[in-house]
Amino acid sequence: MLKKTTSSALLIIDVQNDFCPGGSLAVAEGDKIVPVINGFMPAFRFIIATQDWHPRAHVSFASNHKGKKPLEVITHQGREQVLWPDHCVQGTKGADFHQGLDTRPLYLIVRKGTDPGLDSYSAFFENDKKTKTGLAGFLKDLSITNLYICGLATDYCVFASAQDALGLGFEVMVLEDACRGVDFPQGSVVQALASLKKQGAKILTSQDL
Ligand SMILES: [Zn+2]
Repeated sequence: MLKKTTSSALLIIDVQNDFCPGGSLAVAEGDKIVPVINGFMPAFRFIIATQDWHPRAHVSFASNHKGKKPLEVITHQGREQVLWPDHCVQGTKGADFHQGLDTRPLYLIVRKGTDPGLDSYSAFFENDKKTKTGLAGFLKDLSITNLYICGLATDYCVFASAQDALGLGFEVMVLEDACRGVDFPQGSVVQALASLKKQGAKILTSQDL
């Protein structure tokens, strides 16, 4: 197993009830990654988890746009916004971590998507690509250079987080078997991983750790 180092961190993206089977925006087999993630947690000194954490009036909820349905795309403040079912509303059960996820070793929890008018797929920047979550500064302050990324969903929040991490100069390893995707539009999971690889990420499995 990977030796615990202080230059590496595990970044767990959005392993929350609403993204798991039974949730409002369920990712197929989203819960299957939970034991995989728990299994490699002991390899990491620093473990950081994100939570999608929206106010009820959030721009990404189709229910907040008259006549719109989930998966329709609108333009909001010049940005494309995919509309989703209400999900991960602050303080609800849907926003909680999956109950099987071992949260005891979490060093930091980053909550994103808290601005009603702005969505945030990435753990680093909100979707305007400018507003910072503060995570990059936190990691740099601890001299963390290598990021192992897993979670939900491969083609949205994992993808956006990994892409921003690469752009910020981190070494990025995506743990493929500890991720699951929405696959909307169809093929977007394969495309996301291929794109990350092309941008310099390593695509690994938990067996590689
Ligand atoms: Zn969201």
